[in-house]
Amino acid sequence: MQKKDVFDKKFCSACPRKCHIDRTNFLGFCNEHSTLKIAKIIKNFQWEEPCITGEKGALAIFFSGCNLRCDYCQNYEISRGGVGKEYSVEEFVKLIEENQDSHSSIDLITPTHFSDSLLSAFEKINKKIPVVWNTNGYETTENIKRVSKFVDVFLTDFKYANDNLGREFSKCNDYFSQALPALKEMCKQKPDIMENEFMKQGVVIRHLVLPGHVENSINVLNIINDFFPTRKISVMSQFTPNGKSKLDRKLKPIEYKAVIAHLESLELSNGYVQDFESASEKYVPDF
Ligand code: SF4
Repeated sequence: MQKKDVFDKKFCSACPRKCHIDRTNFLGFCNEHSTLKIAKIIKNFQWEEPCITGEKGALAIFFSGCNLRCDYCQNYEISRGGVGKEYSVEEFVKLIEENQDSHSSIDLITPTHFSDSLLSAFEKINKKIPVVWNTNGYETTENIKRVSKFVDVFLTDFKYANDNLGREFSKCNDYFSQALPALKEMCKQKPDIMENEFMKQGVVIRHLVLPGHVENSINVLNIINDFFPTRKISVMSQFTPNGKSKLDRKLKPIEYKAVIAHLESLELSNGYVQDFESASEKYVPDF
């Protein structure tokens, strides 16, 4: 009997959902077929961490769909709304090749469910600048190994310190159980290589502090301190209520202060802390 290739596009297992469906005909949990779909492209994008944007800014490519369903999602229209334009692999190759000279990095935002097509595309691209895998962190170790062939920087969320919060907010039973080994694999694959404050290769671990969930953030920082104490961390305050979640208020200054105080007590000093003023709608791209 022929063995089924677990990465066969027809039986998608690109992410931990492992839907095992034929995405040329059916939509996965991520709500997308296998053809690349892009909701928005922002050139010379400056709203990532400085080590990612560099001098020229990132070529930010926001992919349609998502393998999580966070009810507080700040990009609801693209993660679930189905907006976007389809790109063939050849059109995507052209997009990168025409733009890479005028950018510092290629920022692939929520790319996991298009891993197969991106692998095909980057086999054809003469890459000149770092490729950033900007992920929600819900990944398999197998897929991280696979995309490491063309990815230089993993810019990954680390949202929750337990599986319960993923269940409560992201329709996901095993976010923490999957995200921690995936993050270990990212760190194994990509030791940091910095050049004048610009990340040529490496990992940045992002954590968005949620209102009413200081304890989760403290536990996330403890885990980072235990397993990845030297890697870059980015703590973010920009939570903006979207009207669809029970997380219906902004973060309070006292909550953010408590998280930052804990960060400082751990002496995790490699990375970024977002200003509290960042909690505004200007950080939510208009789609
Ligand atoms: S990428 Fe989409 S279809 Fe594939 S396993 Fe994940 S959610 Fe399912």
